[in-house]
Amino acid sequence: TFDVSAPWLNRVLEGKPRQSLNAVDGVSFDIRKGRTLALVGESGCGKSTVARLLVGLYEPTRGHLTFDGQDAHAEFKKPEGRALRRRIQMIFQDPYASLNPRWIVEDIIGEPLREHGLITDKAELRERVGALLKSVGLSPLDMPKYPHQFSGGQRQRISIARALATEPEFLVCDEPTSALDVSVQAQVLNIMKDLQRERGLTYLFISHNLAVVRHVSDEVGVMYLGRLVERADKHTLFAAPKHPYTRMLLDAIPEMRQTGRARTPVQGEVPNPLNPPGGCTFHPRCPHANERCKTERPALNAVSEGQWVACHAVQEQRI
Ligand code: SF4
Ligand code: MG
Repeated sequence: TFDVSAPWLNRVLEGKPRQSLNAVDGVSFDIRKGRTLALVGESGCGKSTVARLLVGLYEPTRGHLTFDGQDAHAEFKKPEGRALRRRIQMIFQDPYASLNPRWIVEDIIGEPLREHGLITDKAELRERVGALLKSVGLSPLDMPKYPHQFSGGQRQRISIARALATEPEFLVCDEPTSALDVSVQAQVLNIMKDLQRERGLTYLFISHNLAVVRHVSDEVGVMYLGRLVERADKHTLFAAPKHPYTRMLLDAIPEMRQTGRARTPVQGEVPNPLNPPGGCTFHPRCPHANERCKTERPALNAVSEGQWVACHAVQEQRI
């Protein structure tokens, strides 16, 4: 099997030096090869931090991260850690910011191949870059162009081609379509699904958009303030969400609102992650909160085959 598990408890440096943030706390998951796990939640819930930890852009200060049985962060630090980096690639949200505007497409896509010493011969490199462009629905004739000559959707395809250059097995995709027009989002998502099928890729797909998640995922993890509060296969999650926060997210989308179930009215904003509430961190916004919720942190427990929920009310069968 192919495991990505991150049973860590960490403090992560984000942005400004010395501002330490307990961004991701006890998030643990594994993803089966060739499948897509989506992580959803509002901004500030720690989704992007998980993504950056997985590709080695952030280092966990406590706990550990294993990939395919290896300690990934120990591996990332070694010179030969490049072998692991090659297997895990990332697609970023903003294709405008992540492509160097002064480089032509040939160099952008060819760079990881050169960096990892995979191809040194110029003709061979061009041939490979041309094939990568074709695999994302672009043309080898695009090689001498600059990023500004492409639309947003095309730029994201270039980012995908670059991420695929090293033939990774695992792609971490952080909101890969949320900067794009709705009309091109589906195109890019379908290309990603086709590539997954053809190459047996495994995706961690990060998004705040549940419609997108429903389209691309096999399994879904819902995050709130750096914790996983619910995890289930996609069909279970959308048909029978259990955690009050998951229900709130689904209720916010009219076409996904459940009939025959009382709405979960939740007000409020995500609290400051630097000073999270005690107990269940969702309690200030939860209509089912009681005294226990204010003091005791709920653990993620299995509630049925393939569904885990961190909620006292669900455990106590109050909801
Ligand atoms: Fe709401 Fe309590 Fe469940 Fe947290 S543990 S989601 S506060 S009912
Ligand atoms: Mg983010």
